[in-house]
Amino acid sequence: MPALRSTVADVDLDAIAHNMHAVATHGEQVIAVVKADAYGHGYEAVGRTLVDEGAAMLAVFTVDEGALLRRSGIEAPILILGGITEPAETEIVTRLGLTVTVWDLDRARLLSSAAGTTARVHVKVDTGLMRLGAPLEAAVERIQRIRALPNLAVDGVFTHFATADEENDSFTVEQVRRFESVLAALDERPAFVHAAASAGAVAVDTRSVCNAVRPGLALYGLHAAPHLATIDLRPALEWRSRVHRVAWARAGAGVSYGHEYRLARDGRIATVPVGYGDGLPRAAGRHARVLVRGRALPIAGRVAMDLIMLDVTDVPDVREGDEVVLIGEQDGARRSAEDLAEACGTINYEVVTNIRPRVARRYHRGGRVVATRTLADGIRWL
Ligand SMILES: *Cc1c(COP(=O)(O)O)cnc(C)c1O
Repeated sequence: MPALRSTVADVDLDAIAHNMHAVATHGEQVIAVVKADAYGHGYEAVGRTLVDEGAAMLAVFTVDEGALLRRSGIEAPILILGGITEPAETEIVTRLGLTVTVWDLDRARLLSSAAGTTARVHVKVDTGLMRLGAPLEAAVERIQRIRALPNLAVDGVFTHFATADEENDSFTVEQVRRFESVLAALDERPAFVHAAASAGAVAVDTRSVCNAVRPGLALYGLHAAPHLATIDLRPALEWRSRVHRVAWARAGAGVSYGHEYRLARDGRIATVPVGYGDGLPRAAGRHARVLVRGRALPIAGRVAMDLIMLDVTDVPDVREGDEVVLIGEQDGARRSAEDLAEACGTINYEVVTNIRPRVARRYHRGGRVVATRTLADGIRWL
């Protein structure tokens, strides 16, 4: 196994597989969302696992992300949720056989004329998020006109919910109704009809209208909202480091940039090699706690780009090399992505997605390390 530095994200591919099967009970097919480095978990290993576990498609936001998955050897269908943002991208999607989201005729025509063979598209309909997609009133005609273009196959029609994570599901139900009205006006149903992401899949049953769900967050074992924790998911990621230095300090000594934290009495400061350059939000310096020797300690002073400090005066056994847990378990204590998110004033999505490529990834399957990913070596299957 390649040598890894001490700041590592351990990703449990068994948990990813378990979560994949848990969400699969909410739709006939799963379009597994692995954008933004699989929410920080890592494109290559997560993408491969989800395809092996039966995902019908993978989905990412950009063409470049799709190209990365192809380069890592994934041959399954890949949906580009963001569509084509520059005309030059059409060449890449046709060459790599990526399925593209379209909603307008201009870009559909561009694809149609660039494609030597058939280009696959999913047409997006805006049923109320006001973000991407054909406006509801224009959607049926738009789908029909795109369908009529040569070298283009409309393989899917989809929409995205605006408020699926809220306790009141009335607008989600309305969006399903609007989407259904579009589908009812089509003379032919495409292979993929999808609406629900993680929250929607749990909150409403879309199976009467759709034949696929399009989850991201749930695959990683995280819930979109506490009231949606009715599905059995296992968090897949743990984030750890080790104490890099322990130093004695006098009462009154200031710690980290700006000396915002000062020791109340003579004591000890532990330094840990993780910072905002690894994706630990700078906001974590105020309220976040990390585990050392099974105790949840606050970060002392500001989070720097590469390092944080902990006041370990009251944990006398702490020494260099001790494990530090940012997300995960230690001696029966637990810190979740939600704990860290709350301390930083953000959501679990952002906390895991923030974890940068500089943090080594270690992938586990059946109790064994099966792959690693580092900046220098990329993904390595063992
Ligand atoms: C990110 C995204 C998803 C996945 O959302 P989750 O809330 O993570 O399940 C699904 N569909 C679209 C269009 C997205 O942008």
